[in-house]
Amino acid sequence: APEGDDASGGHPPGLYLLFAVEFWERFSYYGLQSILIFFLLWHLSMDKVSAYAQLGAFGVLVYMCPVVGGFIADRWVGARHAVRAGAVLLMLGHGLMAWQPAQTVERLVTPDASYDLKRPILYPAEGEEGARQVVVNGTAQVITSLVGVPDGDPDVRTLTYAGPDGAPVTLVGRLEKKPDGPGLKLFYLSLALIAAGVGLLKPNISALVGRLYGQRHAARDRGFLIFYLGINAGGLMGSIVCGWLGAVLGWEWGFGAAGIGMAVALATFTLGRRLLPPELPVAEGGPRTAGTSRGGVLALAGGLAVALACWLIVDHPKVVGHVLDIAAVAGLAAVFYFARSYDARQRRHLALLLLLMLVSVLYWTLFYQGPASLNVFAAEWTDRHIGPVLVPAPVLQFPDKAFVILLALPLAGLWRWMDRRRRDPGPVTKFALGVLFVGLGFLALAGGIELTPAGLRVGVAWLLSLYLLQEVGELCLSPTGLSAITRLAPPAITSLLVGLWFLSTAYGQRLSALVAQATVVDSGLPAAAQLASYQAVYLTAGLWSCAAAVLLLLLVVPLRRLND
Ligand code: GLN
Repeated sequence: APEGDDASGGHPPGLYLLFAVEFWERFSYYGLQSILIFFLLWHLSMDKVSAYAQLGAFGVLVYMCPVVGGFIADRWVGARHAVRAGAVLLMLGHGLMAWQPAQTVERLVTPDASYDLKRPILYPAEGEEGARQVVVNGTAQVITSLVGVPDGDPDVRTLTYAGPDGAPVTLVGRLEKKPDGPGLKLFYLSLALIAAGVGLLKPNISALVGRLYGQRHAARDRGFLIFYLGINAGGLMGSIVCGWLGAVLGWEWGFGAAGIGMAVALATFTLGRRLLPPELPVAEGGPRTAGTSRGGVLALAGGLAVALACWLIVDHPKVVGHVLDIAAVAGLAAVFYFARSYDARQRRHLALLLLLMLVSVLYWTLFYQGPASLNVFAAEWTDRHIGPVLVPAPVLQFPDKAFVILLALPLAGLWRWMDRRRRDPGPVTKFALGVLFVGLGFLALAGGIELTPAGLRVGVAWLLSLYLLQEVGELCLSPTGLSAITRLAPPAITSLLVGLWFLSTAYGQRLSALVAQATVVDSGLPAAAQLASYQAVYLTAGLWSCAAAVLLLLLVVPLRRLND
């Protein structure tokens, strides 16, 4: 058999090394992502519309940087240097992030003392998420009122909290807000370092996985499936650990845990480097400084340059959006330029790939409601009891990853079974199923809101149903997309198309910010009106997604010739 060595089914030990490194990278990324929106809202006191825009801009950069990171590795430094430099930047970024809560505090300064004010994510009493607290002698007390002095100094406040014996205690002092100081600049630097770090690490660690297998294609597919489980296991643990620490002990613990995760990743990668596949020799077009220590320095310098560029724009979501447009136009122009010299069949393949990317934008737009509007919905409007336990909202970012882990093998088995019977549905059908399932997920939540009696919070089961359906969709769409690219793209421009695939995720992040913003209504409106706004947005999003799925299913037959 042409793939005879596949029969052994064994995986190279390097796979488990890369699995472990990617586990920690995703641990830190999803850990941060589970608490970031609350940090923006409740610590930096952003309004919801700005916070969603900021979260989206960060997400766009995170998925744009891999295009640059892949390029730097392919042309100059090689994947190993790039992964290591990415891990260093991520460790620095998450570490700096852990320092932010202390840099951006709000304080009440009285003549005798100064008191930190804070807003934890979770307060034990249901319905008091984000309730402001004042720290007195190291203990956080819930503020019952914080009012200005009429006609007095605009910065002076009278603060009341319930003292140890229940009697109200009053403090009068000046309110000092520090979020505008250098602390805030460093917060954005943390985000920029993390985006650049993901950019160097993520595309190149996948490239290393691919290279472990040489020509063993079937074994490689299985290897990537295991790797995808590592991604989601890391994301699962990150949401639970960082989400819980951030919600219960404080922001810095959540962010710090992400930083420690990256330190473990870096140490693992360095210790296990002998298990990695060799770089392509320079003579065969491989990266020029891959094996040299100069390459390590160059990788770090390149990463820092990318981080600097991100730092300049990360707090300007509109600018980030324009940069994404320019990147996409440039990428598409390059594809069309190369397509001139391709034959009709290759052009059909390219047309199919571009169509799939367009569909994937829709999928990711809904998918990225998770860390954004769904996270806030979980905090404010969901009854988060699972049994007797009240689960903090950020921890509820774990179910989608858990569903991937549970469903990945059965779905892969199903595709393989259909393939053996020559019934493989093909990429267009699978993409249609992807947007269909995520659409159904959002319709389920919209229905759940409808069925919730007035005055009650929406049951957590509705949110879980959404994530379950969404992940069936992800497993139809995401692995299919990457494998379609590697199968159909002309080899000379495979990296370009992988880059465009990352950009379609970036567009999903950008559009998801708009969808999340659409859920925002005046916080003074009654609960029913606020819930109705979520419901309307999720209903609309769900219907559009299902409509796109139906349209695609109708096109499956006419489009079949694109995939021959
Ligand atoms: N969950 C996957 C990951 O984190 C895919 C996410 C994506 O492509 N947007 O790698």
